[in-house]
Amino acid sequence: MVVIVGAGISGLSLAWFLKEKNIPFKIIESESKAGGCIETVQSGNYLMEMGPNSLLLNEEQIDMLSKFGLKESLIKAEEVNKNRFIFKKGQYRKLPGSPPALLLNNFFSWKTKWAILREYRKKSKAASENESVADFFRRRFNNELVDYAVDPFVSGIYAGEPEQLLMRLTFSALAEAEKKHGSLIKGMIKEKKSTGRKSTYSFQKGLSELIHKLSEQIEIERDTRVLNIKKDQNGLILETSKGEIKAEKCIITIPSFSCADILQNGWPNTSEILRKVYYPPLCCVHNVYKRDKVQHPLDGFGGLNPRKEKQFASGSIWSSSIFPNRCDSDEVLITTFVGGSNAENKTKLSDKEILQEVHHELSKVYQISDKPVFQHLKRWNKAIPQYDEALAKVLAVIESLELDEIYICANWKGGVSVTDCISKAKKLADRLECNC
Ligand SMILES: Cc1cc2nc3c(=O)[nH]c(=O)nc-3n(C[C@H](O)[C@H](O)[C@H](O)COP(=O)(O)OP(=O)(O)OC[C@H]3O[C@@H](n4cnc5c(N)ncnc54)[C@H](O)[C@@H]3O)c2cc1C
Repeated sequence: MVVIVGAGISGLSLAWFLKEKNIPFKIIESESKAGGCIETVQSGNYLMEMGPNSLLLNEEQIDMLSKFGLKESLIKAEEVNKNRFIFKKGQYRKLPGSPPALLLNNFFSWKTKWAILREYRKKSKAASENESVADFFRRRFNNELVDYAVDPFVSGIYAGEPEQLLMRLTFSALAEAEKKHGSLIKGMIKEKKSTGRKSTYSFQKGLSELIHKLSEQIEIERDTRVLNIKKDQNGLILETSKGEIKAEKCIITIPSFSCADILQNGWPNTSEILRKVYYPPLCCVHNVYKRDKVQHPLDGFGGLNPRKEKQFASGSIWSSSIFPNRCDSDEVLITTFVGGSNAENKTKLSDKEILQEVHHELSKVYQISDKPVFQHLKRWNKAIPQYDEALAKVLAVIESLELDEIYICANWKGGVSVTDCISKAKKLADRLECNC
């Protein structure tokens, strides 16, 4: 029997693939509801995402969701979502979406435009294995591109800092593209052709629909926390809050700090390294305003704030511009993120202070002339694992757990996005099928 620990998207999709292959499994979840980071809240007419807001999907991934039974409820983002805005010199400016547009637009200085042109022909040098994301882009381009393009995106996707995250772990495909094609831009153009175009999606009732659909098809042992894993001559034994479970193979999909707890007795050295993975805290704030009180057209996916601009929030998603069913048609719903790596202190403020600060900042940057009609705050004490040097140490030791039939299929290995989690689950299920 294969036992899966955790029923977030990694555990649930793995369970679905195992079921498809007729491999017997049990899936154990500590909470009464499945989903982990994926959580949609409906309050009156407001549909709000607490964790991930949308999925970036290509045709192959859409087919996969169809197999889960979700094709009908998939909704594609409005065209406007392709516009991405960055806060620069007191206002949001549209980030040019392609290398030619980068050169023609006045978002970047002439120096940076020249750096972009030069990159195409710049020879790739052997970089250190632990080159940071910032150093990589500084080496290929320059500081301005790091400060006004890389930094806000890294903070928007990972709640992280480009100086800390390792290029080879965070953007492995880009690091490989540079190696393979000699230029990042050349590589990006070629790879885009091979992986197919990706678009932004959600579901009619938000991303939780993905969880509900999978949960309907899979029996989950809820309210059961795995406390410890031990080994005997017959295999693995999972000690849970509801008794012992025997397993031939155990798949761990839970956060690294929880994994450290359950491996503490049997694998103390690995557990100690796992405990050092950094998950910054993050607050997710939803604000609803009457549309006629907001002067800014909110004609894009959202606005990101480079750290250099010293804003309170790291950025906002203009949720109702992307998916109009998020609020009434005479309103706008804005999802704002506060905190992340190096901004932990902001999350230590009270709920009231954070809500006030966010409203204050939004009203300035979007010229809003009235109070919000609705506000909501969700705190993530440990949000997203940082793919930094501490995590690199984990990855160096974690493979050896497979010798004891313990496998990792979690968002702290091989990618954090929801689609990464589903793809990794599919790959592991294929691998287990060969082993069974
Ligand atoms: C605020 C935020 C915004 C994000 N935005 C996006 C986005 O826009 N797009 C995107 O693609 N991704 C986004 N992500 C990332 C993505 O949501 C996560 O990486 C992904 O959902 C992780 O899923 P998982 O199943 O690997 O882990 P989790 O969701 O963490 O699930 C783990 C499960 O294990 C359970 N568990 C923990 N310990 C135990 C135990 N001891 N015993 C039993 N069960 C246990 C937990 O209760 C949980 O249900 C975001 C994440 C956050 C936090």
